[in-house]
Amino acid sequence: GTAVSLQNVRKTYQLGEPVHALDGVSLDITRGSYTAIMGPSGSGKSTLMNLVGCLDTPTEGTVIVDGADVATLDDRERTTLRGTTVGFVFQTFNLMPRLTALENVALPQLFQNVGRGERRERARELLERVGLADRADHLPNELSGGQRQRVALARALVNDPALVLADEPSGNLDTETEADVLDLFAEFHGGGTTMIVVTHERHVAERAERIVHLLDGKLERIEDLGSANASD
Ligand code: ADP
Ligand code: ADP
Repeated sequence: GTAVSLQNVRKTYQLGEPVHALDGVSLDITRGSYTAIMGPSGSGKSTLMNLVGCLDTPTEGTVIVDGADVATLDDRERTTLRGTTVGFVFQTFNLMPRLTALENVALPQLFQNVGRGERRERARELLERVGLADRADHLPNELSGGQRQRVALARALVNDPALVLADEPSGNLDTETEADVLDLFAEFHGGGTTMIVVTHERHVAERAERIVHLLDGKLERIEDLGSANASD
């Protein structure tokens, strides 16, 4: 099946001169696939991710996420889709400063119908997987930048989302932590999660099955990395 489908998508920002952040982009992303998005600054990567993450709607064309035309959803439906289907690993998604690492990771589960004990158990499991079990009771300002990023990653993955959107997920990480994060992505991909990762780094993109190159808001080319990275 198709996890995400963009059909002739245009996104125009009107600040004086209109800017077509995306201009006639059509792209299908198969369920369970692993896609990297590359392109120079200003090529439309963030705009694309915001559309796929239902944070924004296109000016023209159609964005379908998990079978739903995003433009036809009301605010509440969009929020639910974001909370249950999509996991965001965005650098701008900040942690709650007064909540501990564990509480931050447990937070998205409030959308789910699970009890407090189960939420904390699941949050602890995710913190363990990102190597932060011993920091569960720390507040964000008691953690390093890289540790905070890993807490945000654990939070993004705690609901086991069908679709993970990551924008420069390893931007601030040291080599070892980056490898852990990319291994975690591979593990989720292996479990059937659809992965979309924006990156400037070739070696990060090469963990995906294909690389979508954007240029000036247009789909420049798709690079197929073959079955080497396929989960099956
Ligand atoms: P692009 O538009 O190509 O994504 P930006 O101009 O947004 O690049 O950002 C330039 C650099 O700053 C990139 O390497 C990006 O990873 C980094 N960056 C962008 N936003 C943030 C952020 N909120 N926190 C830390 N780094 C960021
Ligand atoms: P990338 O993530 O590849 O750097 P963006 O999607 O952030 O690219 O931006 C694509 C184009 O759209 C750029 O020219 C940028 O300046 C413009 N743009 C992005 N967001 C806005 C906005 N909120 N208002 C006006 N212009 C924007």
